[in-house]
Amino acid sequence: MNTLRNFFAVSLMAVIFFFSGCFDNSSGPDVDEPDRYSHVLNPGASANDFLSDENFDELVIEIDYMPGYAPNDRALDSLQAFFEQRLHKTSVTILDPTEVESGGQDQYSASEVRELEELHRDEFSSEQVLAGYMIIVDGQFEQNNVLGIAYYNTSNAFFGPAYDEASSGLGSPSRYQVESTSFQHEFGHLFGLVNIEGSGTEMQTDHHDEEHGHHCDNDNCLMYYAMERPDLIAQFFDSNVAELDANCIADLQGNGGK
Ligand SMILES: [Zn+2]
Ligand SMILES: [Zn+2]
Repeated sequence: MNTLRNFFAVSLMAVIFFFSGCFDNSSGPDVDEPDRYSHVLNPGASANDFLSDENFDELVIEIDYMPGYAPNDRALDSLQAFFEQRLHKTSVTILDPTEVESGGQDQYSASEVRELEELHRDEFSSEQVLAGYMIIVDGQFEQNNVLGIAYYNTSNAFFGPAYDEASSGLGSPSRYQVESTSFQHEFGHLFGLVNIEGSGTEMQTDHHDEEHGHHCDNDNCLMYYAMERPDLIAQFFDSNVAELDANCIADLQGNGGK
C-alpha cells in the first residue's frame, strides 16, 4: 500500500515538474509568472527570443501611430526583409498599422511612452509566437534629439516630428530611408546590439563605441550612433539604406541569429 502511494506521489511530482519545465521554456526569461511572458523587461532581455527559434518560431509586430505619422510602406517592407534575413523564424507578420489618438504633446518622455503602450498595445507573446510593439508618436523625445528609442524588451518608440526634420530640406535622405534605418536600428538594440549586458548578444570582436552608448564604431554600420540622430543621419546616405556590418552580424549569429 505504502509502495503504491509512493509510486503515485512520485508520478505526480514528475508530471508537475514536466509541465512547469515546459511552461518555463515557452515563456522565455520570465520565470516568476511562468504562463505569461513579460514585456516590461529591459531592451536586450529578449534578444535570443527574437534571434533564435528556441522559444518562439514566429514573430508578429504590432504598430500604433498617432495622426499624421502612418509609417512608410516601403520602410515596413524593408523591416520585414531585415527580420527574415537575421531571425530564425518560420513566419514574420507585420500587422496593419493602427491609428491611435494624439497624445497632444510636443514632447514625450520614456515613461509617457510606456504609459501609451499600456493604453494601446493589443498583441502579447504566447505559445510559439513572439510579439513586438512599435509606437510612432506625434512629438519629439524629451531627453534628446533622436528618431527612436528601444524602451522595453519587445518595444520601440519613434518620434514623427524627428522624421520630418531628418527628411526635409535639400539633400536630405528620403522618408523611406529615414524610417527604414530608424526602425531597423532600434530593433538592433532589442537584439542586444551593441554589447548590451544581459542580452546574450556578446561581441565577437570589440566594436563598441563606448562614448555613444550601445553603438557600433563603424560609421557605415546601421548601429552607428548617428543613425538615430535626425541632425546627423543625412551625411550617411547616397541612395541606399544603412546595413549591419560584419561585426554586428557576427554578434547576432553568436546569440542564435542568422
Ligand atoms: Zn541606437
Ligand atoms: Zn556594426
